[in-house]
Amino acid sequence: MIEDIRNYTLAELEARFKAVGIQPYRARQVFEWLYKSGVEDFSLMSNIPRELREKLGEYFVIEAPKIEEIETSTDLTQKFLFRLKDGSFIESVSIPSKSRLTLCLSTQVGCRFACAFCASGSLGFKRNLEVSEILAQFIAMRKNVPQETVSNVVFMGVGEPLDNYENTLKSIRIMNSEFGIRLGIRKMTVSTSGLASAIERLSKEGLQVELSVSLHAATDEKRSSILPVNKRYPLKDLIKAVRAYIVATKRKVTFEYVLLGGYNTTVEDAENLSKLMRGLNARVNLIPYNISQSRLNFNQPTKLEVLFFKSYLTKKGIDVTLRMPRGSDIAAACGQLVAKRRNAAGSG
Ligand code: SAH
Repeated sequence: MIEDIRNYTLAELEARFKAVGIQPYRARQVFEWLYKSGVEDFSLMSNIPRELREKLGEYFVIEAPKIEEIETSTDLTQKFLFRLKDGSFIESVSIPSKSRLTLCLSTQVGCRFACAFCASGSLGFKRNLEVSEILAQFIAMRKNVPQETVSNVVFMGVGEPLDNYENTLKSIRIMNSEFGIRLGIRKMTVSTSGLASAIERLSKEGLQVELSVSLHAATDEKRSSILPVNKRYPLKDLIKAVRAYIVATKRKVTFEYVLLGGYNTTVEDAENLSKLMRGLNARVNLIPYNISQSRLNFNQPTKLEVLFFKSYLTKKGIDVTLRMPRGSDIAAACGQLVAKRRNAAGSG
């Protein structure tokens, strides 16, 4: 079977090369072409003999997704819309700041978790992305952004990374590999809607990848009403898994809390959240809701709500940060560009 060569980790590629009669040491050279140079054509791998390049083409392909659209925000955030080989669309975002360039990657076509405020949920779920499709977003954006080096990767695009566990993990290992992209493991963040059993599994991988948990509400009742996944993994199980992650990795975990105007921003919400955080090596990242184009029934919080919530948590001794929405003029929140395209096509 001909497979995309970017679906293989280095160890797997060495084994596959061996099986088809290619010397395994060539895998490292090919890896460097694929990930350091970002080459998407075997014929450009100039230190590989021509005969071998042809043989590679018999066993493997390099599928480059088509960049359908790039939108640039006034704050220089860039949103990429990719068209995959089966015609599906995914999106990825490049987020520059003073000292960093963060690439936000998608892991699935659509999403099955249907969080009430998120445009991705309204897309429905189609399929998992292959490892090659996850990595191709990185390679294509790196080539097309004006900045020189990528400092961070966050799995916060469309989809639930821990619901595509194997492929997300493989792509992390390839990006981290010495012969791959060489991105530090602590420079990568996996964001999850709260799949407790997958968090426990992740804590046993021996990787210090950054973990972000999308919390958004601090009681089971409220959380279940906006994140259906909470019915399967209630807060007790989620917090237990997060504790295990903190112990195993010795890393501070981030809880994302999207401030939904008039919904989860009251004194009671802030008090419940501060109680939940007690004794956890964690920080809370507040994100004012980025109003989407897909007609979801939530409001942006007022300035007063944001300031109140932040200062309440600070007074309770919680490590809290406030992330201002980036690229709101180009629909840069999760799933918004794909949703916009679908609505324009008349099917959304
Ligand atoms: N499924 C994963 C990763 C993708 S979502 C997860 O749930 O974490 C990445 C983050 O963006 C999550 O915290 C999600 O809740 C948040 N998000 C989704 N839509 C948003 C919006 N319109 N405004 C602000 N944050 C949003």
